[in-house]
Amino acid sequence: MAHVKLHIPGPIEVSEKTLKAFSSPMIGHRGQGFKDLYAKIQPQLQQLLYTKQQVYISTSSAWGVMEGAIRNLVAKKVLNCMNGAFSDKWLDVSKRCGKNAEGLQVPWGSPIRAEAVDKKLATGQFDALTVIHNETSTGVMTPIAEIAALKKKYPDVMFIVDTVSSLSAVKLEFDAMGIDVMLAGTQKALALPPGTALFTCSPAALAKAATINDRGYYFDFVEFQKNAEKSMTPSTPSIGHIFALESKLEEIFTEGLEARFARHRKTSQMTRDWAAKHGFTLYPDKGFESLTLVCVNNGAKPGGRTVDVEKLVKLVKGQGFLINGGYGKIKGTTFRISNMGDETEATMNQLFAAMDKAMAQL
Ligand SMILES: *Cc1c(COP(=O)(O)O)cnc(C)c1O
Repeated sequence: MAHVKLHIPGPIEVSEKTLKAFSSPMIGHRGQGFKDLYAKIQPQLQQLLYTKQQVYISTSSAWGVMEGAIRNLVAKKVLNCMNGAFSDKWLDVSKRCGKNAEGLQVPWGSPIRAEAVDKKLATGQFDALTVIHNETSTGVMTPIAEIAALKKKYPDVMFIVDTVSSLSAVKLEFDAMGIDVMLAGTQKALALPPGTALFTCSPAALAKAATINDRGYYFDFVEFQKNAEKSMTPSTPSIGHIFALESKLEEIFTEGLEARFARHRKTSQMTRDWAAKHGFTLYPDKGFESLTLVCVNNGAKPGGRTVDVEKLVKLVKGQGFLINGGYGKIKGTTFRISNMGDETEATMNQLFAAMDKAMAQL
């Protein structure tokens, strides 16, 4: 079967080069070869997350660390900021972990704003909060720095930030923001296969985790730290992912972080321009559009053009590209196009040519 190139917002297209690194011959995870590999990529990971803290490698999808953050850091009550399918789900996950949890729900398509978070934290009920920087389901990017700025006012609250579909595409300065946890899966903006997540913790988060008795083992942040100090992971990691990460980091730093960020800004603007050219409006509130995917409004909100999304997706697929026909309750009334990973102006133009052709056939 011919390969259909992924322009869905995760998993995204993985290059031949990355796949080759991913399938490197196995090594033992307690041997010197592994420790050398781990130690080699650690400074690059720290540069990528703009941190001096250890960056941990978890063999799980992002949800593992998202659930882990709840289990490690919530003693009193967690505030789950909700503005889309993934962030809404985090409230459910907190409850399933047996924690006291409350949602701060804003309408889908809108970002989380500091003012609303401040009001909730001011009650003094919470010792942790979760927020998603880039809500992949709605294509909304929350201004994370303004929320992180609240940390100064609430030093005892653990700020847990999901950057699953934005890490490496947008500048996210962990240490400077002063937040407590930042996490991302590998199959989104990093363009690796699914199955691994990266995260980092503030010293305060590690200290807090150490006081929590039922934080489990697999996602125990203290175990991650102890093992990281020896250039290892607590349990057997997906070693293929670490080889792939080594290869990807080499590419990232050859391109340069600033150039990588600029490339994503450019290709996301091109995608928004494509939508406007065809008479569509966007789903996110103006000014809060994601830079890694575009969520096109197709009737979910008033205004703009609508098309038969299922047919559009099929016609585009027939030309070798997969876009996404909307997620959760906005399936069909939106559709999403990803510019994450290795995409360039040239490769995005190939997609737009296919999409133009499909639009003409609708
Ligand atoms: C994809 C995604 C997740 C969930 O990731 P999994 O890899 O399925 O665990 C969480 N948050 C955001 C923002 C995502 O895009």
